[in-house]
Amino acid sequence: ATPTSIMVGTGRAAELGVLFRNGGALQSLKSVQVVALDKTGTLTAGKPVMTDLEVVEGFERVEVLSLVAAVEGQSEHPVAGAIVAAAQAEGLALDEVSAFDAVPGYGVNATVRGHRIAVGADRHMAQLGIDVRPFAETAVRMGEMAKTPLYAAIDGQLAAVIAVSDPIKPTTPQAIRALHDMGLKVAMITGDNRRTAEAIAAQLGIDEVVAEVLPDGKVEAIKRLRAGGRAVTFVGDGINDAPALAEADVGVAIGTGTDVAIESADVVLMSGDLLGVSNAIALSKATIANIR
Ligand code: ADP
Ligand code: MG
Repeated sequence: ATPTSIMVGTGRAAELGVLFRNGGALQSLKSVQVVALDKTGTLTAGKPVMTDLEVVEGFERVEVLSLVAAVEGQSEHPVAGAIVAAAQAEGLALDEVSAFDAVPGYGVNATVRGHRIAVGADRHMAQLGIDVRPFAETAVRMGEMAKTPLYAAIDGQLAAVIAVSDPIKPTTPQAIRALHDMGLKVAMITGDNRRTAEAIAAQLGIDEVVAEVLPDGKVEAIKRLRAGGRAVTFVGDGINDAPALAEADVGVAIGTGTDVAIESADVVLMSGDLLGVSNAIALSKATIANIR
């Protein structure tokens, strides 16, 4: 492509809220075959709400919520915000916390009012030797409803299952349809629970799901999607998306996402609207066609 056609293409993209951080991306996007997207904050709003909290017999619901919310008050994970907001909505104040420890991709631990509290995914409980089977059926039901099941333990005892739900962004269904209409394969990469990820993928008609990926596992997921020489673009917003954005043939960051993600990307969707992905690919095709 000539420098002039690249300039015209990037100018048109900017009018659509799509920022090309380098001209190379405008040239390579046209040959992309797979679009992989992070789930939380990319396909979904990234603002989950707590929908359920079921306690084990012998535990008191408000007491469990209060202890769990105190711990989550120390965490920056989106699910933490959901639990803190739910506690505040019930008029609970957050107690003081000590010995806080976050295990990325698993959950959090801390001491509150002398009790050792753990909150996180099933694999977090597994690491602590806590059996979550009493909630097996409940967790399946939550996952099928596209909710994420989380567990809470108090002093080494399973105390509750909590569900959080993160709504799909309004333009996501249309954005996925536009990618399919261009003949592209659409994949989801997420650290979330498999059943939850599959329920959301089914709602959106997503072709491939890579779920329960650890924070440092997204690069490996991109490499696997690239099998057979397919060119892959990855769309993400989070700190742990940065390496995958760099690894993908074209990395696309959500403009409302983290700075590290934006700095690792070739393309930035200024408003966070995923329709920008198909717009950018269409522009790439048009720009390259013009100069032939
Ligand atoms: P994602 O953002 O795609 O869910 P992460 O790797 O950030 O991926 O987290 C994976 C899972 O670990 C989350 O879905 C959640 O179940 C659990 N988790 C992480 N941080 C927390 C936290 N602060 N509180 C409860 N669970 C957490
Ligand atoms: Mg995300």
